[in-house]
Amino acid sequence: MTAGSGTLWVVATPIGNLADISSRAVEVLGRVAVVAAEDTRHSAQLLSHYGMRASLVSCHDHNETEQLPMLIARLLAGDDVALVSDAGTPLVSDPGFRLVRAAHENAIPVRTVPGPCAAIAALSVAGIATDRFAFEGFLPQKSAARISALAALAGETRTLVFYESRHRIDSMLADAVRVLGPDRLATLARELTKLHETVMRLPLGELSVAVAADSNQRLGECVVVIEGAAPETAGPLREGERVMRLLMREMAPSRAARMAAEITGASRRALYDLIPDSDET
Ligand code: SAM
Repeated sequence: MTAGSGTLWVVATPIGNLADISSRAVEVLGRVAVVAAEDTRHSAQLLSHYGMRASLVSCHDHNETEQLPMLIARLLAGDDVALVSDAGTPLVSDPGFRLVRAAHENAIPVRTVPGPCAAIAALSVAGIATDRFAFEGFLPQKSAARISALAALAGETRTLVFYESRHRIDSMLADAVRVLGPDRLATLARELTKLHETVMRLPLGELSVAVAADSNQRLGECVVVIEGAAPETAGPLREGERVMRLLMREMAPSRAARMAAEITGASRRALYDLIPDSDET
């Protein structure tokens, strides 16, 4: 630890309901020299709600590198700094990683004030296994890249957790049905902790249809939790991918996928989706 340095506090803030802030978060945000915020105007509202007047500096994806020297210098000079994002836990699909890494590299203590996180909140109400899960953040925005990313996860047996924008929730669910099939259980956790909080748990195919049919289900902020692959399908898929990649050295991808499916018992559709830019329907 660098003698005399301040502490970098990584502070979670509410994901919708302003009451969901810990008394420790209020105490830390109220006494640090600087609050580094993703959006200073947004965080100013939160701080003023609690009657705090912290000195705010902006720290987001596009200026984090430029802000680093100043923030590290303040920390090394003995000032405490708090890092907050617009909502939830910083660094979870949010900025802050470079600052936290730089603090460690400068032997500055980094401490957490834990609190809300949409992924964990969604998991806790999803009714889908939580003993092991894979947090995937946001999938790619374009359908072809999204399908490839989903295909790479088709054999994953852990529960899958995704963040998704309301603008793409219906196309994301449609692609998930296409790649993962209609039968896995899935939960759409929307507007958590807010007025229109909705938790809809259905087989993936039915969830996709329900969201496509009801524009209200495409409003607000969403987390999608999807059951992992059944172990008996995960094995053949992994083996199928290995065989397909070998065969692709000798033949066209579609033929390789067909043969690998025959050899291993893996789903041909799932194998085909693993081929980048495949557009077979
Ligand atoms: N750092 C945040 C956290 O700890 O959850 C996540 C930030 S990420 C930029 C924002 C995404 O989180 C949203 O697009 C949505 O997928 C999810 N999210 C945030 N708040 C939510 C809420 N109240 N209900 C459902 N999803 C939410």
